[in-house]
Amino acid sequence: IVTKLPNVGTTIFTVMSALASEKGAVNLGQGFPDFNCDPALVQAVASAMQDGLNQYPPMAGVQLLREAIADKVEKLHGRRYDPAGEITVTAGATQGILTSVLCAVHAGDEVIVIEPAYDCYVPAIELAGGIPVFVQMNVDERGYSIPWDKVAAAVTPKTRMIMVNTPHNPTGSIMKAADVQALADIVRGTDILILSDEVYEHMVYDGRQHESLARHPELSQRTFINSSFGKTYHVTGWKVGFVAAPAAMTAEFRKVHQFNVFTVNTPVQYGLAAYMKDPAPYLDLPAFYQKKRDLFRDGLKNTRFELLPSEGTYFQCVKYGAISGLSEAEFCKWLTTEIGVAAIPISAFYNTPKESGIVRFCFAKKDETLRLALDRLAKL
Ligand code: PMP
Ligand code: GLN
Repeated sequence: IVTKLPNVGTTIFTVMSALASEKGAVNLGQGFPDFNCDPALVQAVASAMQDGLNQYPPMAGVQLLREAIADKVEKLHGRRYDPAGEITVTAGATQGILTSVLCAVHAGDEVIVIEPAYDCYVPAIELAGGIPVFVQMNVDERGYSIPWDKVAAAVTPKTRMIMVNTPHNPTGSIMKAADVQALADIVRGTDILILSDEVYEHMVYDGRQHESLARHPELSQRTFINSSFGKTYHVTGWKVGFVAAPAAMTAEFRKVHQFNVFTVNTPVQYGLAAYMKDPAPYLDLPAFYQKKRDLFRDGLKNTRFELLPSEGTYFQCVKYGAISGLSEAEFCKWLTTEIGVAAIPISAFYNTPKESGIVRFCFAKKDETLRLALDRLAKL
């Protein structure tokens, strides 16, 4: 058959995880925790199964979970999304993102993508027949930032959507209030929609605040907010997330969702709804991960890696120019094979070939895993 996605191969995360396991390397590549979730969450899901909650839930998701999500978003960000018509439970953020794009982007529409960008955005746009328009982030020793003047310049009458991601994978940067304001200034008076990928919403460090677009009265009117329980509760394999969007956008979203997955597995939704009553697990998450970030950063200070800031997410980017002149992909292969630590090349998050001499490590690991990796990296 004639391929619809000529530029797509196996994802870099799968490739690097396979190489790490083949070489017995510490896998700081693909982003997922190497520790278990809270047993109370497993118990909550098991109870739902034992109670017979094993048939199709409503198309939009279990009502109790949508209410719990609405309550949480309102408490944290001050906007009440209606659980009935503005929140949909998804099979992870990957499905939420694909469905948001498929329901809103028509053939020939342009979608602005800020690079480096998470790998599922562009294929989603291409499957919808849309045209990705790329704007690259700036990077210097203070870290990555979005050049909003370039985003504004990329807008044309065909622009249908702008995709943003905060906290940002792979750079670990976060959008500040001024970024949100700049975005609002660009879209005001247009019919451009926003897709805001906020899967790392609860991983923001150093006392900073997550600038959810739900907080912004103007922007939230035109935004699909995508999140994922996989990140928040250390259950990336469960693949459950949600999309919050105004009623008219949610109605279109659900038309696609209905025939995309129809609905998402029932007992996990009941388990999450019960577990979410306690805010402590997500309120404690920044402190939990900040400790790991600091352990990892302190260890790397003994190496020739140059550390970029990590303001959010569970990723730490480093420059390796003082260690090697290899390309990012070759350096990651070398690091995995010869040093025994896997990382991800930032070049994999660009659609245009780009080498910045930067790779990404994931620090969502047991302290002992991070120490083992640091022992190996200490040679560098
Ligand atoms: N967006 C970003 C930025 C991510 O890092 C991920 C997880 N790798 C996703 C979306 C997808 O989330 P999920 O696993 O819930 O599909
Ligand atoms: N989001 C994870 C990462 O950035 C990987 C998820 C996946 O393998 N698709 O590492």
